[in-house]
Amino acid sequence: MNPLSSKNRPALIDSLRQQTFDLIVIGGGITGAGVALDAASRGLSVALVEKDDFGAGTSSKSTKLIHGGLRYLKQFEIKLVKEVGRERAIVHRLAPHLVVPEKMLLPLVKGGTYGPLATRAGLWVYDVLAGVTGTDKRQMLNREETLKKEPLLSPEGLLGGGYYAEYRTDDARLTIENIKTATDYGASCINYMQAKDFIYNDEGKVSGLICRDRLGEQEIRIKSHHVISAAGPWVDTLRKKDKSLSGKHLFLSKGVHIVVPHEKLPLQQSIYFDNDDGRMIFAIPRNRATYIGTTDTPYEGDLNKIPINLEDVQYLLRATNQMFPDINLEVEDVESSWAGLRPLIHEEGKSASEMSRKDEIFESDSGLVSIAGGKLTGYRKMAERVVDVIVDKLTETKKLKKNHTRKIPLAEGKLKNQKEVEAYKQQLHQRLGSYGLDKNDTDYLTANYGTQSEQILDHLSVQDSNHPEQQLILAELEYTMEHEMVNTALDFFNRRSGRLYFNLPSIMPNLDAVLNRMGEKLAWDEERVRQEEKSVKEAISWVSKFTVKEKATS
Ligand code: FAD
Repeated sequence: MNPLSSKNRPALIDSLRQQTFDLIVIGGGITGAGVALDAASRGLSVALVEKDDFGAGTSSKSTKLIHGGLRYLKQFEIKLVKEVGRERAIVHRLAPHLVVPEKMLLPLVKGGTYGPLATRAGLWVYDVLAGVTGTDKRQMLNREETLKKEPLLSPEGLLGGGYYAEYRTDDARLTIENIKTATDYGASCINYMQAKDFIYNDEGKVSGLICRDRLGEQEIRIKSHHVISAAGPWVDTLRKKDKSLSGKHLFLSKGVHIVVPHEKLPLQQSIYFDNDDGRMIFAIPRNRATYIGTTDTPYEGDLNKIPINLEDVQYLLRATNQMFPDINLEVEDVESSWAGLRPLIHEEGKSASEMSRKDEIFESDSGLVSIAGGKLTGYRKMAERVVDVIVDKLTETKKLKKNHTRKIPLAEGKLKNQKEVEAYKQQLHQRLGSYGLDKNDTDYLTANYGTQSEQILDHLSVQDSNHPEQQLILAELEYTMEHEMVNTALDFFNRRSGRLYFNLPSIMPNLDAVLNRMGEKLAWDEERVRQEEKSVKEAISWVSKFTVKEKATS
């Protein structure tokens, strides 16, 4: 039985009920997924419960960079920059198709935050801390070289540029690949399973969870010796339930990104530029789109529905239009968007963008261990640290392996480096032609699935190449329902395929076909199909129509 096949959910639930696990992880974002893989690969028996879909929290709403965080140098976060800077190369090696090198251009403009000297010094320190070598080392460019890299920059006031290496990824796919690999090591991971309460033993120690199956509306008790909460922005909600919310607590900062069709902002390459308020903003080309972000503002609203306000969108458009004066983006050009919450550790007297991105572990008297803060980039080290805490607590002697996730490839591990990824892309491209699919489809498939694309191709048929896009979508759907626990249409359109953000126009023409196929496979009744249709349409409206922020009245 493939435990990540959507059809096998009842059997998975039965097995969750029957065992006592060494560890339950709450939260299927990148942190929880990394923890499940780390713990299972050391030899612990692990269950992971996610109340929504895997990656549905912050881990599908980041800037999608595996980066060292150049700007944190300004805050002297040396340890953080060193750790995540070094992690970049490791995570790239683990999944080279999904974590791809992305050169970043930092334009230097008259009156800007960064002058040439400070940038030269900053990038040098960045390279040294992150151990960057060879062609990845930073370069300082003069004005002409900078304009050649990105002709859309305005020559006026341009002094030159810093050119340095980062990596681009898809956060939700990095999360699901960790979930899949954790499952290969025996972890039982399930989505739409919400931890509602803790079970305590006679000594008052956490010994399991009472969960609600949000698809079957049933209650499930799962027993365990230890519990880690990796619930991101919800960490304090669970600490409160455990009556252990005291001392340090979370501070949530909202970050919005907007997406425009690539032809509206036809960047040749990724740009990291400073706004006139001193904040740094990314503009990143990605296949048929370019995305821009982010904002950084305190947030106290509903954690499950984070509004994208018109003000957020206008802020990003204004900054972009200032940097690229010939572009003139308008609100109507924005095709999609997303808003995520940074679960930061509160520091008195600091603004959202000044607060540290460090992670922190909280241990309660009941034995609940929570981890929050940190970066997508640093997930592997965060997992190592928090699993070490659990291993130290084990009373039973168990022969465990040491942490070795730096040697566990994700997504089949058949592609070893960028060169092999490029070679695979070439040969995939030649084969896709006969299905009516083009270079964009090849790039998309390779970046999303790597060599797992072969299993998607098995579902394509040459006879049906009159509707190539729909064919591809249905083939992906088959694969993701069978191997990636797709349970709702949005799991597919958002977290697995990224279409809600990066290819919104492809959804409506294919929605009926997707709902029919899912309905057949998962035995949905008409009511369920209608609900799914409604939730997809609501999501489209949510990401493409913007609310006006309510002004405080007093
Ligand atoms: P989440 O992804 O939020 O996961 C927590 C999960 O717990 C959620 O899926 C939630 O549904 C689940 N959960 C909560 N309560 C329960 C419960 N009771 N039962 C079961 N499940 C529960 N980092 C980078 O390295 N690079 C970047 O480019 C970058 N850009 C960013 C941009 C923005 C705007 C933001 C907001 C963050 C960015 N980050 C970036 C940081 C990074 O995205 C986060 O550090 C990371 O995604 C946090 O992951 P997480 O797993 O801890 O939290």
